[in-house]
Amino acid sequence: MVVGDIATGTDVLVIGAGPGGYVAAIRAGQLDLDVTIVEKDAYGGTCLNYGCIPSKALISATDVAHNAANAEDMGIHADPAVDMQGMVAWKDGVVNQLTGGVEKLMKANGVNLMQGTAEFAGENTVRVAHGGEGQGSESIEFDSCIIATGSRPFQIPGFEFDGEHVLSSRDALALDEIPEKLVVVGAGYIGMELSTVFAKLGTEVTIVEMLDDALPGYEPDVARVVKKKAEELGIEFHFGEAAKEWRKEADGMTVVTENKDGETSEFKADKTLVAVGRQPVSDTLNLEAVGLEPDEKGFLQTDDQCRTDVGHIYAIGDVAGEPMLAHKASKEGHVAAEVIAGEPSTLDYQAIPAAVFTDPEIGTVGMTQDEAKDAGFEPAVGKFPFMASGRALSTGHSDGFVRVVADEESGFILGGQIVGAEASELIAELALAIEMGATIEDLTATIHTHPTLAEAVMEAAANARGEAIHTLNR
Ligand SMILES: Cc1cc2nc3c(=O)[nH]c(=O)nc-3n(C[C@H](O)[C@H](O)[C@H](O)COP(=O)(O)OP(=O)(O)OC[C@H]3O[C@@H](n4cnc5c(N)ncnc54)[C@H](O)[C@@H]3O)c2cc1C
Repeated sequence: MVVGDIATGTDVLVIGAGPGGYVAAIRAGQLDLDVTIVEKDAYGGTCLNYGCIPSKALISATDVAHNAANAEDMGIHADPAVDMQGMVAWKDGVVNQLTGGVEKLMKANGVNLMQGTAEFAGENTVRVAHGGEGQGSESIEFDSCIIATGSRPFQIPGFEFDGEHVLSSRDALALDEIPEKLVVVGAGYIGMELSTVFAKLGTEVTIVEMLDDALPGYEPDVARVVKKKAEELGIEFHFGEAAKEWRKEADGMTVVTENKDGETSEFKADKTLVAVGRQPVSDTLNLEAVGLEPDEKGFLQTDDQCRTDVGHIYAIGDVAGEPMLAHKASKEGHVAAEVIAGEPSTLDYQAIPAAVFTDPEIGTVGMTQDEAKDAGFEPAVGKFPFMASGRALSTGHSDGFVRVVADEESGFILGGQIVGAEASELIAELALAIEMGATIEDLTATIHTHPTLAEAVMEAAANARGEAIHTLNR
C-alpha cells in the first residue's frame, strides 16, 4: 500500500465483470456478502461486448438478409440491401441494452462497482489503477477474491493485430464496411462463425487452416455438414496451410502461407481475421504477490469449488481453463460465490453443452459414441435426419441430423450431437436429460409438440431403441 493511502475493505473482491465475474458478484450480493467488482473495460466482459452477443446479433441480422434473398423455392423474390452501418448500430444497441442491464442488476444486488485495472499487492490486497491521466489508484483489502479475468485472442508471429489489416474477432465485429476479400486464419468455431457472416454479406472469404479439417474437436460427420454449406456460400478452404507473413499492397494485402513441405502460397485480401484460439489473462495480475502460479498455458488450477492453491483466492471462467464458454464461466461464478458464503456448493458438471452458430448450427453435449466406448460403455446410438422432419422441411432448413448416445444396458443418455437449424436451442433438451439422469425411454415417452424440430430428438432416441416411426431403424 502507498504510504498515506487508506484501503477500502470488502468481503469479496471480484476481478473482471464478464459472465463469470458479474454472475459471481450478483450471487455474492444475494447471499448478503459485501462485494466489490473491478472491471478495466466494459461490464459484461468479452461475452457481452466483443464475443457471444455481438457475433450472434450479426449472425441473426445477416440471416434475415440471406434467407430473404434465397427464398425463391418458397415463392419469395427479394434482393435485400444491407446497410452495414445500420446493422452494426443495431448490434451495438443490443450490446448496450445488455451491458446496461448487467450494471443495474449488480447495483440492485448491492455490488460495489469500480472501474480500473486490478493487480495483487499482497495476500489480501489489490491495487486498482483507475487509468487515464491524474486518475490515480487505490488499494482494496479483501477476505476472499475471485479472479475472473477471462481470455484474449492468441496472436501469431508476424500477424500482430492492427485493427486495419490484421483483425482480431473484436475488430471484425466492429467493421462498418463489408470487406470485398477476407482471409480468415483458423477454422475453429470463431473463424467459422465470422466467415459465415461475411460470406453471407457478399465477401469473398478464404479460410487457411494449419490442420487437415475445419472445426477440430467436433465429429467429422458433424463438421462435414457445416463445411459443405460453407462451401455452398462460396467460402474457400485451404487446409494444411500455416499463415507465415503478410505484405501490404496498394489495394490491400497479400497473405503468405506455408504447408508442411515448406511450399508457400499467396492469398490477396483487404483484411485478414486471425482466429486461432484464445489465451487466459493471468499474466497481468502480479500473481506472485499472492503466491499463485499459473500452469504452462497460463490457466489457474482450481478444485471443484473453484478454489486455487491459495485458499482464499478463487478462479472462474476462461482464466480457469477449458472449455472457454460463457455458461461454464457463469456456473463457476455461482459456485465460487456460494462457497465463499459458506454454502456446500460444488461443481458437478454432468455435461457442459456447447454450440457453434454456423449455418447450420452445431450443438453438442456429453459423450460422443467413441468417448462412450472409451469410457467402457456399450453405446446405443440413434440418429434422425432433419430431412425427415416435417418442421425442418417447412422452414426450408433441412440439413443435418440429431444423434443421441445412450448406454445400451441402462438406457441412460450419455451425450448427443445435433447439426441443423436451432441446434443451439435443441441441445438443451439433451443437456437436461443428462442432468436428470433420463433414459432414452424417457425421451421417447415424452410427448413432443408437433410439428417441431424438437421431435427429431425424440425420434433419434426412439431410433436408438429400434422404435423410430419416421425413419428406418438401425
Ligand atoms: C467472437 C467470440 C464469440 C464467442 N461466442 C460464444 C458463444 O456463442 N457461446 C459461449 O458460451 N461463449 C462464446 N465465446 C466465449 C465467451 O465470450 C467466454 O467464454 C466468456 O466471455 C468468458 O467469461 P469470463 O467471465 O471468464 O471472461 P471475460 O468475458 O473475458 O471477462 C473478463 C473481464 O475481465 C476484465 N479484466 C481482465 N483483467 C482485468 C484486471 N486486471 N482488472 C480488472 N478487470 C480485468 C476484462 O476487461 C473482461 O471484461 C465467444 C468468444 C468470442 C471472442
